[in-house]
Amino acid sequence: MQRLMRVFEDFVYGFDSGVDVPMEAAHALVRGLDSPALRDLAGLDREERLEIRDLVTATAAQLGFAIEPLQAVFEQRVREIAAAYLAGEREFTDALSGILALFWRYQDKGIGPYCCDALLHLQVWLDVREYDETFGSAEPAERDFRTRALAMVDGCRACTIASHRRRPSR
Ligand SMILES: [Zn+2]
Repeated sequence: MQRLMRVFEDFVYGFDSGVDVPMEAAHALVRGLDSPALRDLAGLDREERLEIRDLVTATAAQLGFAIEPLQAVFEQRVREIAAAYLAGEREFTDALSGILALFWRYQDKGIGPYCCDALLHLQVWLDVREYDETFGSAEPAERDFRTRALAMVDGCRACTIASHRRRPSR
């Protein structure tokens, strides 16, 4: 169920444009999940995006789970990446790129921890590493990112940047 929920979130919110929902639905059937909509979903072609969208909603309802609102899912994904970095499971630039990709995709929505916004100067560093004078080398950039990552794992609730704590939640 967890895996299918994540696949649905990926599809609905566009976190993973390559996700093959019908194939994932077929795998879920093999794992023992079952509902009429899930079976229909497994029979679709991955390019039938409108049909997939309808059946994703129907399948979730039939299996008794809800697709969380964008803001909750976004924050969860950011937390996961930050936590994976802090646990040494993802490299600094890989984690930074991952969070920035989420941020750029949804920057107009004004969602996510405030430290996401604060990563924009690191985008510049990432893009033009050899020219940017702000950090000079990777070490200060990574130190800055680590501070943000620690704050992002709890959504800036205990952020050391005081203004992040004071601002109302979006
Ligand atoms: Zn913060």
